[in-house]
Amino acid sequence: MARQIKKRCKCGCTARITKSIEVMNGFSQHYIKCTNPHCERIWVESSEFSHEVRKSKLDKESGLTDFVKSLPLEMIKSLRLACDMELAK
Ligand SMILES: [Zn+2]
Repeated sequence: MARQIKKRCKCGCTARITKSIEVMNGFSQHYIKCTNPHCERIWVESSEFSHEVRKSKLDKESGLTDFVKSLPLEMIKSLRLACDMELAK
């Protein structure tokens, strides 16, 4: 299970993200509310995509599909033949 990012209010209590809005591609604003019923402070924090540490495995698969789509039809046919031969082993 994914670990939830813990936020803390200036009153010292924990706070939670109640709403996230993607303002622009990769730039989001998070509405954060203090869980202390005597405080109930709400504030907004921004986060911005910086860089990837590891590529998504899904990107790898779609990258392969895009690569195959970019090939000429004859090359796709011979690639399919090669794949069939490899799978038949
Ligand atoms: Zn608070």
